[in-house]
Amino acid sequence: MTEKMNCLDTRLNIFFDKLRSLFTEMDDKYAEAANFYEFHCRGCRNNCCESLFHHHTYLEFFYLKKGFGALSAQVRDNVLKRAQKVVQETRGIRGKNSRVRIMCPLNIDGLCILYRYRPMICRLHGIPSELKILSQNASCPGKKNISAGCETFYKQCGHKSYYPFDRAPFYMKMSQLEKELKETFAFHKKLKMTVAEILITAPDEL
Ligand code: SF4
Repeated sequence: MTEKMNCLDTRLNIFFDKLRSLFTEMDDKYAEAANFYEFHCRGCRNNCCESLFHHHTYLEFFYLKKGFGALSAQVRDNVLKRAQKVVQETRGIRGKNSRVRIMCPLNIDGLCILYRYRPMICRLHGIPSELKILSQNASCPGKKNISAGCETFYKQCGHKSYYPFDRAPFYMKMSQLEKELKETFAFHKKLKMTVAEILITAPDEL
């Protein structure tokens, strides 16, 4: 871990506590919906860890770094090599709406080795959900802005009726926490990184 990370760590802990409780809320709501559908996230042909998701908060950046820092030196070294490779292979498509599929460097033998620390998108992916605030402002009032679940979800549960799962409260809480963190540490730049990019970026480079 870098000097800057050590120095930030104590002051970040208070944000990590709040983030953990937000993640617990998300996980509970996700489990509630998954139980309703009797959806089981396993045996995917299209593993969602192969999707090139971008993450946008410093909070998730530092939280993932915290988990990464707790891994053994050998595992960290291995993961960093994988992350470098992913970054090299995806250079040139950054920012584009690419459908390229490449395994996240934290997925080893089908499992996320930083499951407790995984970002918000990883937690909410798979089950149909909506953004209620957006649908209230949509040009067709009353029309639900429901985003699709993953391919495996539709195979297992596509015939079932929609279980209300609103992401908006989670996005709003995350955005408020991120605002507080950016003010506290005077971060001004926008952040948009894949997990691989987060792993190879030192906090000093932010
Ligand atoms: S952080 Fe974990 S859950 Fe998210 S894409 Fe990577 S391996 Fe998958």
